[in-house]
Amino acid sequence: MARLVMKFGGVSVADGSRLRHVGDLVQHFNRDNEIVLVTSALQGVTDDLLACARKAAKEGNVSDVIDFMEKLTDRHNQAIADAIRDPQIAKETKEIVAGKLSELEKAYIGICYLGELTARSLDYISSYGEQLAAPILSGVLRDMGIPSKSFTGSEAGIVTDSNYGDGSPLEKTYDLIPRKLLPLKGVPVVTGFIAKDEKGIITTLGRGGSDLSASLIGAAIDADEIWFWKETSGVMTTDPKIVPEAKSIPAISYREAMELSYFGAKVLHPRAIEPAIRKRIPVRVKCTFDPDTPGTQIVHDELPKVDVIKAVTLHKNVALLNISGAGMIGTIGVAARAFTALARAGINIVMISQGSSEANITMVIEERQVEKAEDALRAEFPRELVKEISHDHDVCAVAVIGAGMAGTPGVAARVFKALGSAKINVVMISQPSGQHNISFVVASKDAERAVQELHREFGLGGTA
Ligand code: ASP
Ligand code: MG
Repeated sequence: MARLVMKFGGVSVADGSRLRHVGDLVQHFNRDNEIVLVTSALQGVTDDLLACARKAAKEGNVSDVIDFMEKLTDRHNQAIADAIRDPQIAKETKEIVAGKLSELEKAYIGICYLGELTARSLDYISSYGEQLAAPILSGVLRDMGIPSKSFTGSEAGIVTDSNYGDGSPLEKTYDLIPRKLLPLKGVPVVTGFIAKDEKGIITTLGRGGSDLSASLIGAAIDADEIWFWKETSGVMTTDPKIVPEAKSIPAISYREAMELSYFGAKVLHPRAIEPAIRKRIPVRVKCTFDPDTPGTQIVHDELPKVDVIKAVTLHKNVALLNISGAGMIGTIGVAARAFTALARAGINIVMISQGSSEANITMVIEERQVEKAEDALRAEFPRELVKEISHDHDVCAVAVIGAGMAGTPGVAARVFKALGSAKINVVMISQPSGQHNISFVVASKDAERAVQELHREFGLGGTA
C-alpha cells in the first residue's frame, strides 16, 4: 500500500467527461494505494476569471459581469450533469457550486463599483477556479463509490506569506497539513494553487501553482510518490512538434529536471518540486491519456551515466543584449552595475557570457523586456565606459541537457561539430561549471534545425 499524491491540471479536468476519466484513474489506482488528489481549475477558467476582473475594474459594467457569471455557471453545471450520475450527489454538488458562484459574483460587483483591483483582490477572484473544481471532482468520486471530501488549500493546512499573486508557503505548513489530512479518509480532493495567509486572507501560489500545492502536500504527509498527470507522455527528449521521434525519458534526476524547466520545457517549475526534493520524494510525470505507461520518474540521485545527453530544449522568445567598449577592459564593477541596473528594471536574465578579454558582456533576456533593458543600461553607463549597447531579437536559445556530460570530454565537440556540419552559426555560448547543460544562441531561422540535428546526433529518438 503506497501513499500517493496525484495532481491533475486544467486540461485533465476541462469538462465532465475528463472529470469522469480522472475518477476512473483514481478508482484504478485506489485499489492498492492511498491517494490524495490536487486539482487545478477547469481548463482556462483562471484566465477567464482574471480577464473578467480586469474588465470590471476598467469599465465597471455590471451587466458584463452577469453575462460572464452565467457562462461560468453553465460550464460548471454542465460538468456536474455530465460527470455525476446520482441525482442526490449531483444536487448537493450543484448547491455547493452555486454558493461559491454567488460569493464570486458579489466580489465582481464590488470591483465594478470600486473601479480598482489590488493584487489581493485578484487572488480572491482567481481562487474560485479551483474552489469550483474541487467539490465537483470530489462529487464525481463519491458518485463512483469512493468516499471523498473536498478541501481548500487552507483547509488542508497550506499557509503562505502575504505576497499576493505569488505567495510562498510558510514552514508551519509542513506541520499543519498532516494534522488536517491524516489519517486519510477516502480520497481527499484539495484545491491546487490557493491558500491563505496568517491573517486568513486568500492567497495564491503564482500561476501554475497547483504543482507546488501537490508537492507541498506530498512532502508534508510523507507520500511515497507524487504524480503529476499531464497531457504529454512524461518528460520528453524534446518538443515532439519539432522532432516527431521525440520520446519520453524514463528517469531523470531532480537537477536535470530543473535544467529542463529553466529552458522552457514547461514540465514542472523548479519551485514546484522543491518541497519534494527536500524530502527526497520521487516525482512522476504521467500521461492522462496513456495511464498504463510509466511516464517519467524524477529521482533524487544522479542516475548512472548511460546517456550523456537526455534532452534538447528550445527557448524561442528571447533576445540578445550586448554591451561592449574598450573602457570595460579591467574595470571593476561593470558586470555588477549592468546586472543591478537590469534587476532594478525587473529584467530576468536567462543566459550570460563574457569572454576573457572583458571587452563585452552578452546576456540573453526575455524578448518582451528588451527595450526596457536597453534603456536601463543606457541610463546606467557613460559612453566612455560602455561604448555600445545593442540587441538582437531574431535569435533563439538552445540547450542540451544531461548530468552525464559532467566530466565527460568531447560532448561540446560533438554539439558544435553537429551544428558546424549543418552550417548553423553559433552566436553565443554558455556552459555553467556544473556541466549539466550547454546552452547556445542561434539565429531564429536555424533554431529548429539545430534542435533536430542535436536530437539525432545524441540518438535521443532511439536511432543513433
Ligand atoms: N489554475 C491556476 C493557473 O491556471 C493554477 C494551476 O493550474 O496550476 O495558473
Ligand atoms: Mg493551469
